Amino acid sequence: MIVVSKPVVRKENEEVVISAQVKSGSLPAELWFSYPLEYYECIDEESADWLLAGLLVPAMLSGEDLNLTGSVSSLLLHSAQTELQQVLSIQNKNLKPIRICGNISTVSRREIGSGIATAFSAGIDTFATLSLIEHSNHSLTHLTSFNVGAHGSGDPARQLHLRYRSRLEEYCAYTSHASLSVDSNLQEFYQSKFVNHIRTHTIKNVAAMMPIQKNFGIYFYSSSYDYRSIGVRNVFDISFTDPIILPLLSTENMQVRAYGTSLSRLEKIRLVSELKDSYIYLDVCVDSAEKRLGQTKINCGICWKCARTILTLKLLNKDYLYSDIFDFQAFESNKEAMIYGWAMKMLTESFPGAGINPNDGDVLTLAQSLGILPKISFENIVRWSGISWKLKIAICKYITYIMMKNI
Ligand SMILES: [Zn+2]
Repeated sequence: MIVVSKPVVRKENEEVVISAQVKSGSLPAELWFSYPLEYYECIDEESADWLLAGLLVPAMLSGEDLNLTGSVSSLLLHSAQTELQQVLSIQNKNLKPIRICGNISTVSRREIGSGIATAFSAGIDTFATLSLIEHSNHSLTHLTSFNVGAHGSGDPARQLHLRYRSRLEEYCAYTSHASLSVDSNLQEFYQSKFVNHIRTHTIKNVAAMMPIQKNFGIYFYSSSYDYRSIGVRNVFDISFTDPIILPLLSTENMQVRAYGTSLSRLEKIRLVSELKDSYIYLDVCVDSAEKRLGQTKINCGICWKCARTILTLKLLNKDYLYSDIFDFQAFESNKEAMIYGWAMKMLTESFPGAGINPNDGDVLTLAQSLGILPKISFENIVRWSGISWKLKIAICKYITYIMMKNI
């Protein structure tokens, strides 16, 4: 059993820290989140919602019951005991059902805050969300940046988080949103490869909002995939379940919703490439924190996500708009390998019920629509190539040869 103490709130320099002691055989002894000091008044010391959200997956991974002390949203507790665990364990076969127990009181009615927040990672999904919200009838009050595992854990991740905090403050000074930057050691509880960030980011980011939920009525979470790909199935990326899992993480205080799910990645890139802010801030790079800290340009140009984005921008003839922030020289000097890598990723990262990863497949569809690649069914080729590596390699070489001649 994982036994978690009642949370404690303390002021520390210019921050407010909420923490709890964790007793278990394998997890760190303390979980903490820190917020700007101005949030001191809104943190409910009695609430254990953030502990339930933050520790549910580590508890399910070890198969240990989660013993909490404090008040918990009755909506969240019900989800966490039932549907949320079911969805998580379908999506990730390494997670086992557990009991949530301890000295818990439930809270069902609370004051709803006026804040509306979304994360600012500066990626394609972020800018698409900002554009969609700007043209909607609701308005954002806050942009957030959380240190919950996107950059790994430890010192390099914290240094990168500080850099992103400065970027967020600069951007918010320009857009007049309030910036909210949150540090934590949550990622230390997710060190197993079976619960790596891509498998768990949704629940970790929502956990970071929970201690301050009194101030926020809505937290929008940018979708990575569109509705055609959404579903609950055993896949490597929790993003495929976001529109399903997010309502299960909502409380009486704070609704958590997916945003931008109606658009494909290609539609988002088309939208974002019209936004001048993106020419300065767009950040899709997934290189390691250590490497990113030493990069001269925001985007390395050679990680799989940089390569895929550059390919799309080149096909759209929009790459010249991003010359200040993408290392195109690095891409060009590795172009053949980059294209081959994208094609191989596309053909090998297919999965039951969804075929080709839709975000990789969008580049293919674009190239086909431009007449660069033939309009044949690569979905079928994925199925055939699943039984033959030679066929898979031959297809990748063919795609690379054609694309090299055209971009
Ligand atoms: Zn990169």
